[in-house]
Amino acid sequence: MNMRSLRFRLVAWYASLLAAIFVALGVLTFAGLRHFLETNLRDTQMRRARQIADTLLLNVSHPGDAFIAPEVEAFYAPEANDRFIRITRSDGSMLYASGKPTDDSFDSSAIPRAPLTRNGEGSRRERLPGDKVLLIASLDYKTSIGARYVVEVGAPMARIEAMLDQVLLFLALGLPIVVIVAAGGGYLLVKRALAPVDQIARKAEQISQHNLSGRLPVTRTGDELERLSLSLNHMISRLEDAVHNSKRFLADASHELRTPLTVLRGELENVAQNGRLEEDTRETLGSMLEEVERLAKIVEGLFALSRLDAGEAQAEWVPFDLAELAATTADQMSLLAEDKGISVSCEAKQGITVEGDRARLKQVVVNLLDNAIKYTPNGGAIHLGVTRKNGHAVLDVTDNGIGIPAEALPHVFERFFRVDKARSRDEGGAGLGLSIVKSICTAHGAAVEVESTPGRGSHFRIKLPLAESGAPTKENQHEN
Ligand code: ADP
Repeated sequence: MNMRSLRFRLVAWYASLLAAIFVALGVLTFAGLRHFLETNLRDTQMRRARQIADTLLLNVSHPGDAFIAPEVEAFYAPEANDRFIRITRSDGSMLYASGKPTDDSFDSSAIPRAPLTRNGEGSRRERLPGDKVLLIASLDYKTSIGARYVVEVGAPMARIEAMLDQVLLFLALGLPIVVIVAAGGGYLLVKRALAPVDQIARKAEQISQHNLSGRLPVTRTGDELERLSLSLNHMISRLEDAVHNSKRFLADASHELRTPLTVLRGELENVAQNGRLEEDTRETLGSMLEEVERLAKIVEGLFALSRLDAGEAQAEWVPFDLAELAATTADQMSLLAEDKGISVSCEAKQGITVEGDRARLKQVVVNLLDNAIKYTPNGGAIHLGVTRKNGHAVLDVTDNGIGIPAEALPHVFERFFRVDKARSRDEGGAGLGLSIVKSICTAHGAAVEVESTPGRGSHFRIKLPLAESGAPTKENQHEN
């Protein structure tokens, strides 16, 4: 379980708050009940003490009070009712004291005398041996003829304590159950409420610059999540427009630049053919032609990329033999390699059929071989291989050239990225070759990987689905 997830944190907060509220409520209930029961018991004892005083002691005086004891026994039967009653004269002598109760729950003779109180009434708890507690109400009573008595009436608190123990047990068992049930319910509610977030996140993962037409799901609940997904969808729409505009600009600009550049190149070539030109004018014209060639190459690259962005590689979708394509391309380019004394070996078994735009995939092989030749010093070696592996056609281009530094490897497929700008420029590169490779591969549902060690060489690998093992369809190829 992810403890940092919103779901977990909300439920944890909710359960903790609920537990705190229930504990506070439990404590208050328990304390209130205890107070109520004790007050009730104390009032009952006090009422009884007053009753004894008002009915039996009212008109007696010390010398003639012996009849009281049997009267108390007769009316109140304290032993049989498990109660304690004691009447003490003002000189400290005992007029009456109840004996042991029938349930033997306390020993009345062990109960100390009541402390004197100012207002004549008082109550106390008396803890007796065996952890028994007696709640005793005491009344300092003055008879109508001036004699004084202390009447004490008590009852054991065992029944109240048993009841309170039961309430405590009930609270201790019930509280965790209530909290667990409430937290479980809260979890389900939060899960339901946050389900659209998962859907939004899943859909958002699938949206990339290639399928900006996708939209996040909108649950019509009228809540913040609906507002969030609507706002995000508006944002995606604006991004889609922006990306679309920039693609169209790239396509228009590269298209518009091609014709004037062709005209310029043609005219420069015409002028250069004029035999009456001065030597340095001819040199200037030569370098101008070189720059125009480079510019034309960049524009061609950009134009190719813009057409790939527009999904043009889908147009010429046919099955063909990749091994045969690689072998003929390597053959055609070996002349270029020979100029630098580089050997090109090719191991491509016939019959590895893939489906796609043949001309575009040839461009991939050309670009990779061209780079390998450009970045391999004289006398180096390049190896091209096409094999079949796990339902894929695998194209490997390996060289033992200058290699690519590790920090540059993640960027080599970016547009206009060059490890060494000056060197690439000298070699006639503009940093578009590998981004064209990447775009063509993406359009064909192919993966492209690179491994390289500076000073030892580079290895580019393309994995293309075999035609017979379910080549990507024209509909889904732009989704990766
Ligand atoms: P460029 O037109 O500059 O060759 P690419 O997009 O083809 O542009 O390649 C990008 C950069 O990756 C190159 O500038 C070069 O630094 C590096 N690179 C590509 N292929 C190789 C290779 N086979 N060996 C060494 N470096 C390479």
